[in-house]
Amino acid sequence: MNKPVILVVEDDNSVKNLITTTLKAHDYRYLTAQNGDCAIMEASSHSPDIVLLDLGLPDMDGIEVIKRIRTWSNMPIIVISARSEDTDKIDALDAGADDYLTKPFSVEELLARLRVTQRRLSMMQNESSVESSVFTNGKLRIDYAAGCAYLGEEELHLTPIEYKLLCLLSKNVGKVLTHTFITQSIWGSSWDNDIASLRVFMATLRKKLEKDPDSPQYIQTHIGVGYRMMKI
Ligand code: CA
Repeated sequence: MNKPVILVVEDDNSVKNLITTTLKAHDYRYLTAQNGDCAIMEASSHSPDIVLLDLGLPDMDGIEVIKRIRTWSNMPIIVISARSEDTDKIDALDAGADDYLTKPFSVEELLARLRVTQRRLSMMQNESSVESSVFTNGKLRIDYAAGCAYLGEEELHLTPIEYKLLCLLSKNVGKVLTHTFITQSIWGSSWDNDIASLRVFMATLRKKLEKDPDSPQYIQTHIGVGYRMMKI
C-alpha cells in the first residue's frame, strides 16, 4: 500500500507546521499550499488522497476552493475552520466537504479524522460499494434491490422514511451529512419543521438499529450540523 498523500492548505505557519509534523511522524506524505489558487493547482496536478483545507485563506474563501475542486474530483476534503460558527462548516459540507475540524484541534483529533476518511476511501476504491446492491457495515446489511435491512440475522422493521434515511446515510458512509442535505434528499425541502421531523425519525431509527441508542455505534450526531454513519 502506498502512503497516502495529504494536501495541506493553510496560510497560518504555526498550524501548518503542527499538521505537517504530525503527518510526517505518522507516515503520511504531504504537499502544502498557502492560498486557494495554489491549492487548486496542487489538487489538480498531484491528485492527493485527502485535502486538509483551511476555510480562511488570503486570496479566496475555502468554500470556493471546495466548489472548484468538486467540478472535477471527489477527493475527500476535510475542512479546518477557526470560525466557531456552525454556518461555515455547514456551508462547507453542503459545498461538498466530507468532514471538518475546528481550531484549535488536537493531534489525536486530526489523526482520527484522517483514519475515518481513509476507511471511506478504501471502501470506495475496493468495492465501489456505492454501485453494489448490498451494503454491509458491521452487523448491518442493506439489500438495496430488495429494499430490506438486517442487523445480524434479524430483519429491521423500518418505516419508509426510516429506510430512506438509513440508505442515504449508508450511501455516504464516513461523510458528515448536514440537516439541510438530509431533509432535501428525503422530503425535497428543508424547513425548520422538516429538521424537527428528522430528529424524530432519527430517534426511532436508532432505537431499531443501535444496541444502546444513548451511545450510538452506527450513526453519529454532529450537534447543530447533521449526522454521519461511521464505518465499523
Ligand atoms: Ca487561515
